[in-house]
Order: sequence, then C-alpha cells, then structure tokens
Amino acid sequence: MSQKLVIRNIGLLLSGKMEAPILEADCLIAVDGKISAIGYEKDMDGEGATSVINAHGVTLAPGLIDSHVHPVIGDYTPRQQQINWIDSTLHGGVTTMISAGEVHLPGRPKDVVGLKALAIASQRWYENFRPSGMKVLAGAPILEEGMVEADFKDLADAGVKLLGEVGLGTVKDGKTARQMVDWARKYGIQSTIHTGGPSVPGSGLIDADMVLETGTDVIGHINGGHSALPDDQITCLCESCKAGLEIVHNGNQRAAMLTLNTARELKQMDRIILGTDGPAGSGVQPLGILRMVAMLSSLGDLPAEIAFCFANGNTARQRELDTGLIEVGYAADFVLMDQAQHAPGKNILESVELGNLPGIGMTIIDGVVTSQRSRNTPPATRFPEVVL
Ligand SMILES: [Zn+2]
Repeated sequence: MSQKLVIRNIGLLLSGKMEAPILEADCLIAVDGKISAIGYEKDMDGEGATSVINAHGVTLAPGLIDSHVHPVIGDYTPRQQQINWIDSTLHGGVTTMISAGEVHLPGRPKDVVGLKALAIASQRWYENFRPSGMKVLAGAPILEEGMVEADFKDLADAGVKLLGEVGLGTVKDGKTARQMVDWARKYGIQSTIHTGGPSVPGSGLIDADMVLETGTDVIGHINGGHSALPDDQITCLCESCKAGLEIVHNGNQRAAMLTLNTARELKQMDRIILGTDGPAGSGVQPLGILRMVAMLSSLGDLPAEIAFCFANGNTARQRELDTGLIEVGYAADFVLMDQAQHAPGKNILESVELGNLPGIGMTIIDGVVTSQRSRNTPPATRFPEVVL
C-alpha cells in the first residue's frame, strides 16, 4: 500500500525558490515520500491518508541543506570526539548534508587506490545508513598527485558524485587541479575548492587566481575556512565566474557580508549557498545553517524568505538534488518551524530579520517524521502535531 502524508493548516509555505519564495497554499500532500500536491485543503484530495499532520499555523519550508560538512562514519566525528552531531543538526532543521571530503578520518589513505576505496566506502555507508534519518551525501575524494583520467571514471562508475575540497591534498597547483576537475566533470562528478588561507597544518593558501584557474563548480567557503582572502579577491571571484558562492558558518562573517553584498549588486544572489564546514576546529554547529540565515538576513537587510532560499533551493538547484524545493515530484523533506517564544517581530520572518532563530517543531524526510520539538532551537510559539 502506498504511503500518503497530508500536512494541513500550514500558516506560511516557503518554496525555496528565490523568484517566488512564498507559496499561496495551506496544505501539502506527499505520496511515497514525494510531493504530489500543493494548494488549499478545500480543493485537495486528502482521502486515504496514512499519516496526517496538523501544522497548527506554523511555517513549512523545504528541509535545509548543509552544503559543506566533513563527516567520517555514522554519527561520530573524530575531529572533536563527538557523537550524535548529525542528530543534533537534524534538530537544527537540516535534512541533507553534503560532504566536502572525509578528511578527518585518522590515517586517511593518500595513495590513489586507497583514496578511491575510501570515497566509495564512504558513499556506501552513508547511503546504507542514515543517522536519525539524515541524508548524508558523502564519498568525496581528496585529489592527490598521480591520479589519472581512468581514476575518475572508476569513481563515477562506482557511484561517487562529489570531489572533496581541492587543495586539501597534494595537488596544489592550478594546472594539475584544472585537469583533474575537468576529468571529474566529464564523468558527472561535481567539484569544490578550499578557498582562502590554510585550515589545518598541511593545507595551503588558495587564492583567487588558483580558484579561477581550477574552475570548480562551487567556490567552497568563499568567506574562508577559517581565514578569508582579501576583499578585492572575494569581489573578483564573484565577478569573474559563475560558480556557486558558498558561505560557511566556520568562516569570516565580515567576508560573508561582502560576498552577499557583491552578489546582490551583480543580481546573482541565486549563486549563494550555505554550509557550516563542521566538524572542524570550531566544533560542530547544530544550528549553524539557521544562524547563517538569521545573520545574513538581519545584518544584510535581506528578506528572511530569500535568506532561507540560500539554505535549501539554491543549493538544490546548483547541486541538482531532488530535495530542497517545494515542487511536485521532489522529495518530501521538510522543516516545520515558528517564531521563537518571546522573540521580537510580528511574525517568523520579521523575527529572523531582527536576527533571531526560529523554533523548530518538526522535521520530515521522505515523508516520514524524523524529529519533533527541537532540543536545540529556542522553543517555538506553536508546534505542529501528528494527528494520524
Ligand atoms: Zn576548507
């Protein structure tokens, strides 16, 4: 029997689409984990529902996407000896995480056959096991010297779809990096790069010239991870290419504002995507994506419904995911949230525009409830309820 989820009484429906961030609707139906109808309940067919949620007037948005994480295995990270960091992030409204490389594995193999094996194994173990339901898109090999075209074909054939941050391995020059990124792209593997100063001993500076020469799909942490490039190089990157502009929590927040303002002047805010870059030296950030949304919206004088698109729809489109947008056929991955109790502002959007986090009441992945009242956000004013 097919599973039919009906979410009724939605107060505000955010689409993830910058061109139309707010939808006119109060009800959403998903069948077998995919969105099947969006509209007003009075016009919709809720017959045969196997699961019903009364949203009680709260806001529903596509589940948030963290474009930049460094997972290793299961819900454990050796980087800060933490367990359950992925579960904690789910409680921050994130339903999909994208690996920028499994670099924190102690003893990470750097020989070609070893790094390929690690990438394929990482892709598999997160595909086969979703911690608390979280979709973790992992298996992102780090480029090392000696890789040849056939290696990228092997990786692609085995299901690898991402490269880890270019520059974290032994490939440090633009020419070699460009060749490998081109091979990756030829076989359908997306790429990103470590932009800015070194993160850990062994990594190096990657400046604007190297980023442009390498030509990755995403300019990874354009605001540094940790140290940002000088301002003129950040504006140059925004102006000189069409790659994704990834802003991360574990970067330089002044450089984040510069990126936002430059992209806005260029009328290219659809390039902005958000990540945490955790786990890292700065720890893990269960609320990192929400904090970026509130920071960019409040300090950047940006409508909150647009800032949320940086955290779901923009990433979905750039990375060609089947989640992150409210559209028929897309995965039923949602976050339900409301204005935090006693937060200023007349509604959730104004409250975020004043710099406050929303309170999360529920997450749903593939049409299944994965968490209810968040243990990490401030408490919401109203909460959705599972009725059936
Ligand atoms: Zn990095």
